[in-house]
Amino acid sequence: MKGTCKGQPHKPQDFQKLYLSTPMMMHSIDADGCLLAVSDFWLDTLGYTREEVVGRKLTDFFTYKSKTLAEETVLPHFFEVGSVKEIPCQMVKKNGEIVDVLISAKSERDENGKILHSMAGIVDITERKKAEEEVQHLAHYDPLTGQPNRFLLQERLQHALAQAQREENKVGVLFVDLDRFKWVNDTLGHACGDQLLQKVAQKMQNCVRQGDTVARFGGDEFVVILYGFSSDNEPPHFAQRFLETLSQPVTLEGVEVFNSASIGIAIYPMDGKDVETLLRNADTAMYSAKEHGRNTYQFYSSEMNERVLAKLGMEVRMRRALKEKEFFLEYQPQLDLRSRQVCGFEALVRWQDPEMGLIQPNDFIHVAEDCGLIYPLGEWVLSTACTQAKSWQDQGFPPVRMAVNVSSTQFRRHDFIEMVEDKLQRSGLAPECLEIELTESLVMEDIQQGLERLTDLKVRKIKLAIDDFGTGYSSLLYLKHFPFDRIKIAQEFVQDIPDDLDDVAIVEAIFAMASSLNLEVIAEGVETRKQFDYLYDCHCSEIQGYYFSRPQPADSLSSLMHAGWMQTDSDPPMV
Ligand code: C2E
Ligand code: MG
Ligand code: MG
Repeated sequence: MKGTCKGQPHKPQDFQKLYLSTPMMMHSIDADGCLLAVSDFWLDTLGYTREEVVGRKLTDFFTYKSKTLAEETVLPHFFEVGSVKEIPCQMVKKNGEIVDVLISAKSERDENGKILHSMAGIVDITERKKAEEEVQHLAHYDPLTGQPNRFLLQERLQHALAQAQREENKVGVLFVDLDRFKWVNDTLGHACGDQLLQKVAQKMQNCVRQGDTVARFGGDEFVVILYGFSSDNEPPHFAQRFLETLSQPVTLEGVEVFNSASIGIAIYPMDGKDVETLLRNADTAMYSAKEHGRNTYQFYSSEMNERVLAKLGMEVRMRRALKEKEFFLEYQPQLDLRSRQVCGFEALVRWQDPEMGLIQPNDFIHVAEDCGLIYPLGEWVLSTACTQAKSWQDQGFPPVRMAVNVSSTQFRRHDFIEMVEDKLQRSGLAPECLEIELTESLVMEDIQQGLERLTDLKVRKIKLAIDDFGTGYSSLLYLKHFPFDRIKIAQEFVQDIPDDLDDVAIVEAIFAMASSLNLEVIAEGVETRKQFDYLYDCHCSEIQGYYFSRPQPADSLSSLMHAGWMQTDSDPPMV
């Protein structure tokens, strides 16, 4: 007996009807990938009419990424093998919305193996994908604050450490614990506690750079990851910024609540090389911050604590010093060996701190460079030096050069040239009387920009000198191309001439090179008669050093200048 199926056998048109009206996305394509037929559901889902679709390439209805993948990989494979199963793909609705689908298809061939057409069934998984993403989000983000939770934190930190290891960078891990959270929860209730956490998370997020991670670790604990920072000051700067923001009260149900936090800082690689160690050490440092009276931060390593605190302390004092006018300039004369006359001065900044006493530039310039204070300080130096030079001229002294030291960060700032022009204009000093001293490494950091800046200064007739020549790259190539007027031979080489034969060889090589490149030379740090005589014999054009004069305040120099000291034709006096 045959099968027990009852009813009439289907006619081909019934199958076609079934194909068209089954509530599923189906389509057929030919060997060129063009659509031969689509189901009604296919059209309904994507919002097209049959006329708009049939005859067009299937991949015209894919996103760009899916189209490329289909044309380069999936379709060639399909035509070769004859079937594909659940290929993930993104289709685009007529209204532009994207639909995530899985496509399974089979092809039919004639007896020669030539593809006739194919049949594909498509499952719309947009909703499923959304649900999966939500689950993922719930597994990785804290529902209250919307910040990454501890699992995602660990993943991100792991990733950050791997990258930092490759790039030899540092990573900061900050463990933040609110100081008064329990009090808020106990007295104002949990709803207020929740609100406080949300506000704190937001404040923290506002203090970090884009791309840094602020994660809720649990309860009132947060962990911040600061990725690849350049200066050790960045983690404490963040901590300080955050503590300042946190000190602004928040209003919870009409009550003004003041808050603070204790922050522990651990740095990769010094304080740990793996996720667990870094988190543990940042946590330990946080406890130490609590012991230090809360509302503060502590580094895991004590050496770092001291160094950073000292630097930050100096930064704070320097800001005050600028306001209180505690900086002043001394001027060191430069002597022309042929004319035996003063041909210039170098302006050198000093800081008279009310508690620490006199502080020398080598002890504070690098801090000013690190925290950006070098801009206002450098501007003040330039302005004061130009005004002083002009004032001497106005008193009747012959116009001489005023040399001013400029740091790399100052020189690189986009408005440096305008700033210099402004100071010249305000003081009334002629540009040819100003000399800018730069170190060789400064110019070499970015040769193209360096060359442009130097040329910009040069066309304005400002003089250019290379400071501490011989201690940096000393590349002859850049000397040839860069528009310098003068080389200042570094003190290191002058110190032991003429006894140290190596230094003698270097100094003589510098003279030979300078003469062939048409550059003036000034020797720095000349302290003795022996050095002076030797340099004179070498036809060195200018010297600067204690032998002739120490740097001095403008007032002391004015009286010396009035005494006619500038036009001496005997040996220069020791001052
Ligand atoms: P520099 O530009 O090479 O300045 C020369 C330094 O050598 C000065 O030290 C000067 O006092 C010292 N000096 C001069 N003659 C002699 C000598 O015969 N023997 C010895 N042993 N030393 C001598 P100072 O004033 O302590 O300045 C140190 C450095 O600080 C300067 O080196 C310069 O790089 C920087 N500096 C000073 N003022 C400024 C400034 O206004 N801006 C910037 N960016 N840097 C500055
Ligand atoms: Mg100098
Ligand atoms: Mg120097």
